[in-house]
Amino acid sequence: MADVNKTENKIFMKIHLAKSAGFCFGVKKAITTALETAKTKKPVFMLGDIVHNEKVVKQIQEKGIKKIRRLSSGIGKTLLIRAHGCSQHTLEQALELGYKIIDATCPMVKEIHKIARKLEIQGYRIIIIGDKKHDEVLGIVGQLKSKVIVIDKPRNIPLEKIKKITRAGIVVQSTQDLNNLEAILKLLRRYIPEISFHNTICNPTRMKQNEVKIMPSKNSIMIIIGSKTSANTKRIYEISKSLNKNSYWVNSADEIKKGWLNNAKSIGVTAGASTPVSSINEVIAEIKTICSKSRH
Ligand code: SF4
Repeated sequence: MADVNKTENKIFMKIHLAKSAGFCFGVKKAITTALETAKTKKPVFMLGDIVHNEKVVKQIQEKGIKKIRRLSSGIGKTLLIRAHGCSQHTLEQALELGYKIIDATCPMVKEIHKIARKLEIQGYRIIIIGDKKHDEVLGIVGQLKSKVIVIDKPRNIPLEKIKKITRAGIVVQSTQDLNNLEAILKLLRRYIPEISFHNTICNPTRMKQNEVKIMPSKNSIMIIIGSKTSANTKRIYEISKSLNKNSYWVNSADEIKKGWLNNAKSIGVTAGASTPVSSINEVIAEIKTICSKSRH
């Protein structure tokens, strides 16, 4: 945790910023790829959001990359594949339509694709532990020819289907919560005789989750910064909220309420993997402003 109180001596409240707050390497890589592509190729399109953050998407759009919802003729166009990947079908369709592909998929996500495909070839029934509608999960499902089971919560395990499986290959959405994963896996082990399990939660997610398991008990309040569309920010918020009820999820500094800070001795701040450093700095500056005003 970094102490960010030194420059502002009016602040009596401590602000602790998580070391892991903000961009992970996969998001950094995707943004760098997008910005470099915008300089050298035109026109460039992205199918959906390159990362789950409105500010980042806007910044990329300002560089000339256009967001599209579906593919059309791709002759003379470049298509940027987002950080959390896409299905094999989308990729093939884009190539057939004539797009030149620039793949900004995170290497950790590509590794999950590789593992899932290998397990399928080995004859395992594939189970993905993750959020059914999330881009990354749809991308993993879209790598496979067989029917895939996606499970997001222990209570949503489709028991009738699970009981019929004799061999399961299990991969995990990169940003899943470890405790949720363990609870699901424990139940699956009761019913499936042979399981080849691959914990594909990525390292940046593990680091963020580890920090947010400690910070809520050491701070009066927790502020979690990130887009409401970001699955990993949601996960960090949920963990924090379960440990400290004074946990708040904001996307920008103007969402911070003065009342949250009343009587707080210290504030823990963390941010999702697609949250830019500018948003983090703005939130910290806003907290300092509110505290400073409330002293006078
Ligand atoms: S959260 Fe993990 S999998 Fe997703 S982009 Fe970042 S490093 Fe890659």
